[in-house]
Amino acid sequence: HIGEVGDFLGQNVFVVGGFVRDLLLRQENFDIDVVVEGDGIGFAEEFGRRHGCRVRAHRKFATAVLVFPDGFKIDVASARTEYYLEPGALPTVETASIKLDLYRRDFTINTLAIAMNRAHFGELLDYFGGQSDLREKAIRVLHNLSFVEDPTRMFRAIRFEQRLAFQLGRHTEHLLKSAVRMGFLEKVSGPRVFNEMLLILREPDPLPAIARLDELGLLAYIHPRMSCRSEINRLLAAAKRTVDWYELLYTGEGCQRWQVFFLCLFSGLDESEVNQVLRHLGMPPRYAEFFGPERETVHRIVHQLEWRCSQRRNLSNSEVYRMLRELPIEALLYGMARTEHEEARRLMSHFVTHLRSVVSLIGGRDLQSMGLKPGPCYGEILNKLVAARLDGLVSTREDELRLVRR
Ligand code: ATP
Repeated sequence: HIGEVGDFLGQNVFVVGGFVRDLLLRQENFDIDVVVEGDGIGFAEEFGRRHGCRVRAHRKFATAVLVFPDGFKIDVASARTEYYLEPGALPTVETASIKLDLYRRDFTINTLAIAMNRAHFGELLDYFGGQSDLREKAIRVLHNLSFVEDPTRMFRAIRFEQRLAFQLGRHTEHLLKSAVRMGFLEKVSGPRVFNEMLLILREPDPLPAIARLDELGLLAYIHPRMSCRSEINRLLAAAKRTVDWYELLYTGEGCQRWQVFFLCLFSGLDESEVNQVLRHLGMPPRYAEFFGPERETVHRIVHQLEWRCSQRRNLSNSEVYRMLRELPIEALLYGMARTEHEEARRLMSHFVTHLRSVVSLIGGRDLQSMGLKPGPCYGEILNKLVAARLDGLVSTREDELRLVRR
């Protein structure tokens, strides 16, 4: 269908990039990127009319997203070329042929394209040796200035290298090391680096990539004291096990794995160093709150829990609940990975698996029908009921109603 619309409009249309790479590697990928030689938005609008898709156009970038009725999406771009007036700056953009569009890309393995028009349907375009690099399992840039033009490609190189179990080509590794040595990363805005870190930490297993970032001096760019020394490595490995464990529980509540790993990376830094990183990376306020003050809260609570455990007194379920209930799941998982205290870890895991989801059986409406005036006392009563349920003092609705009357 893509090709038909292209033929109708007299435009050459291609599927490009990650989808083609993964197709040749026989790996699943549902992110389809289409490039049109000519007006991509016009193409998307015609395609949308014929096939009942919504079109979200971004005129500034001459791109569009096709949204199918079932929610499936296809990205459409107009073939363009980019040139960089300054290292690290955002590029100047002009429309161009597919070959130039592919030439602006990061690595040869991402420059493959498949023609969609009827006359050439299915032909593979390989201008820059992408197939041979896929066979050799090599990550290679297209030209010597690639990392200088866009230093975030250094992070991308490591992400693809580790995800695909490839190797940086020798020359590419050499170029990357020179770019690090010459400090080109300093020219990139913090938020762009943060975004690349996010993509790395969201990979199913980010640990090898983190080790590689450290080896190549890229972690040190985030903070000179950020590195995976042995204790951070231990922590990262424990975090990976904990996060995998949590995901197998299928609690219905997702967890932002990357936040747990980022907390681990921060763990060698003190509060003011963390704040420096947060400012430098321009973290959005909601994350800055989590990695700043909230991190301090986790440390304090885990410390208290360890201390209480070391007193050898059994903690009741409601006491554990009260200590941990404010913590978001990511902080809890980090706490579990962090503690070396067996009993504290057991209690945190018991909290995650059993206690965290406990609620009272009666609610505000019941309290109202019992003649209680709404106000802050509702929260207190319901909290007490949860505590009673956690400690096995009530089990039915009637038990709870009786307790409230008392
Ligand atoms: P993923 O499988 O992680 O989605 P992808 O290859 O689809 O990988 P995207 O980040 O979605 O990666 O980018 C889409 C395409 O845009 C890539 O194939 C790449 O060629 C190109 N690209 C993205 N970022 C850059 C960059 N900084 N420099 C050059 N090309 C880039």
